[in-house]
Amino acid sequence: MKVCLFGGSFDPPHQGHRAMARAALEKGGRDKVVVIPAARSPLKEKGHGASPEDRLEMARLAFQGIDGAEVSDEEIRRGGISWTVDTLRAWKAASPAGTELSWLLGSDSLPHLPKWKDVHRLFSLCRFLVVPRPGFPKEVLETLEGALEPGEIQALEEGFLDVPPVPVSSTEVRRRLAEGLSLEGLVPPAVEEWIRKRGLYGAGRR
Ligand code: ATP
Repeated sequence: MKVCLFGGSFDPPHQGHRAMARAALEKGGRDKVVVIPAARSPLKEKGHGASPEDRLEMARLAFQGIDGAEVSDEEIRRGGISWTVDTLRAWKAASPAGTELSWLLGSDSLPHLPKWKDVHRLFSLCRFLVVPRPGFPKEVLETLEGALEPGEIQALEEGFLDVPPVPVSSTEVRRRLAEGLSLEGLVPPAVEEWIRKRGLYGAGRR
């Protein structure tokens, strides 16, 4: 079984996230993608815009209809800072022999990777699958020379998925909501409905 874990803030989840899950299943040959909203993301110092409960519910709505995608509340249940190494260790301990674990991330995350907790251990726990993000082509790997082992950089290069970049971010979605602009095409309709119903990110204040 090839299982791909997909951690993130999902604050809110958007079409770029959906495209990533599909890429892992279709291009990355994974049997299953498990979306895991973080309780608290280590690198997001300002915290999150929406509560863990709202982000979890929006993730459930966002990944509906993708066969093979599921959402887990494990990091939110664990609480505190969500370290990827803890999540991967827990999966490794709980998975039957023969399970191949991957971790899905966008190429914009690569420059931060050397700062992730126990980064070298991560490479022995999982295979990274990387989805290109606008402005972060494969060449960003060159900036990691010296910070990661050559074999680790090669593993990241091999994990790049050949899919077109999708120019959407949660930051842009939050900004558009605060400015009263349309979210058409940026988030799944069920996510937009949840945001508006709950008045998240300043929606409906203008
Ligand atoms: P924010 O704008 O708040 O920083 P985000 O859009 O980057 O949020 P996250 O939930 O923080 O969304 O991202 C989770 C993971 O998905 C990260 O690895 C990030 O690099 C990746 N990701 C998010 N959006 C895209 C996208 N459009 N293309 C490729 N990767 C993406």
